[in-house]
Amino acid sequence: MRPIKNIHGDKAPHWVGDGFYVKTLINHLDDSPDFNYSHTDPFLLFDYGTPTTFDPNPNYKTQPHGIGQHPHKGFETVTIAYEGEISHADSVGGQGTIQEGDVQWMTAGRGIMHEEFHSEAFGQRGGVFSMVQLWVNLPSTHKLTDPNYQSIKRVDMPIVELIDSHNLDHQTTIGKAAIIAGTWQEITGAANTFTPINLWDIELHTAGATTLKVPNTHNTLLLIQEGELLVNGTSVSAGNLIQFDAPTQHRTDMQAEQKPAADTIELLYPATENGEQAPVKLLLLSGEPIGEPVAGYGPFVMNTQEELRQTFRDYQTGNFIK
Ligand code: MN
Repeated sequence: MRPIKNIHGDKAPHWVGDGFYVKTLINHLDDSPDFNYSHTDPFLLFDYGTPTTFDPNPNYKTQPHGIGQHPHKGFETVTIAYEGEISHADSVGGQGTIQEGDVQWMTAGRGIMHEEFHSEAFGQRGGVFSMVQLWVNLPSTHKLTDPNYQSIKRVDMPIVELIDSHNLDHQTTIGKAAIIAGTWQEITGAANTFTPINLWDIELHTAGATTLKVPNTHNTLLLIQEGELLVNGTSVSAGNLIQFDAPTQHRTDMQAEQKPAADTIELLYPATENGEQAPVKLLLLSGEPIGEPVAGYGPFVMNTQEELRQTFRDYQTGNFIK
């Protein structure tokens, strides 16, 4: 079992533009000795947009909620729409609306400009909005890769049925996991990634127990989005991010073809007395650490301060994307 190291949740939310009300649960700029980039590598930033209600926006055409044109360089942004929809347009022609349950995996690489707004349909009708934006670092060998855009529909994600492990004879399905990225046993997720990453969207609807398996080489985190359950025997509720102990094995110590051993994470979703189960929603993030220095500020994440300074100079002098 991979032990829990810490539980992070008491973050004050803040606005990103006027469209996204988020708690920053991972930030590569944080230098806390117990929770910094070395514990989350390759994940640079994790903004969780807790469910927030928006009124209909009658001025959508001229003033949509969100953020206008802005740059990114040196990493990937992964946006998951849980409730509400996000419209995106970028400088390499990527364009589309992230519908509920869908994921956009945008590679900024050597540089991209984009805008992120509530979709027109959502803006006009208003309602509850909830999303995640995750920043995934790129290794130096791919930092300046061409910008790219993967639009991943929910229907294209492999879905794994979760069987109650306390009652295998009955083969009771207690929930499911959508494999956005990575591998679940022999099943490969929908997204292409530059380094080994698992991103699993998990929902439990029936009381029972199940086990997640992650490589012992991966930094591992688990967001509780809705409900309450026991993780490795510890009760955890919505809004919290679990940080697991550091990996016990390192890729650099292994042969290329060697497969890492699996660590387990035990999920127990207890039955309620009245038999009504409020669904539990979880997002598992795990990844092999890239292990390179990071020089990041604002929308840019490079390896060295000089690369970062050059990127700001390029941006200020109109040489950012050519
Ligand atoms: Mn952005």
